[in-house]
Amino acid sequence: MKTLGLIGGMSWESTAIYYRLLNEIVRERLGGLHSAKLLLWSFDFAEIAERQHAGDWDGAGALLVEAALGLEAGGAQGLVICTNTMHKLADNVAAAASIPLIHIADATARAVVHAGVKRPALLATRFTMEQDFYKGRLADQYDLRPVVPNQAGRDLVHRVIYDELCQGIVKEDSKAAYIAEVGRLRRDEKIDGLIMGCTEITMLIDQGDFDIPVFDTTRIHAEAAIDFALS
Ligand code: GLU
Repeated sequence: MKTLGLIGGMSWESTAIYYRLLNEIVRERLGGLHSAKLLLWSFDFAEIAERQHAGDWDGAGALLVEAALGLEAGGAQGLVICTNTMHKLADNVAAAASIPLIHIADATARAVVHAGVKRPALLATRFTMEQDFYKGRLADQYDLRPVVPNQAGRDLVHRVIYDELCQGIVKEDSKAAYIAEVGRLRRDEKIDGLIMGCTEITMLIDQGDFDIPVFDTTRIHAEAAIDFALS
């Protein structure tokens, strides 16, 4: 089994979910006392979020590259950036490191295509919903054009991620608001699936809340990482 280097802490709430999933998936596949071989670089998320909201992506990129090189020097054989948003800097990380990066959008797109979903909604941070680094990759490489909420919907989804989920706060009214937003997208945009394109959203909603296929990027990414580790 290869050792994975996790670039995490963005937020630690979702990195903790990754840690559990990665170990559970290895146990499912290998049984007994087997568990994942992992190194974790965990950021102080305040330092990252400040750069994101100031548009200082060069500064954030330099921090991610430092993490990647540190993990590689420590013995990691593959890299996992434990957030969708920070895949904005995946190319910087991949260029600096000499070990493979397991890309969350690739793993997600393959799952969506495999399920036969043609018009998924994308709920994520404002950065992921509005910029091109994620949607563009889905469109160019997988011919998928995810639908994002309108301005008010994007504001809601983004606010709940940063002000609640990343701080460990899970509220019933936010869950209801997310479900209502997906209902609106079903009615108005005819979506046929839902990409939970932020690694904390799994804390709030899951497949049981919907009757269309739901793609949990945290789990999908963890599965892809273990596919790599065991290959
Ligand atoms: N974990 C989140 C994501 O998957 C949001 C926090 C971040 O900006 O990294 O996008």
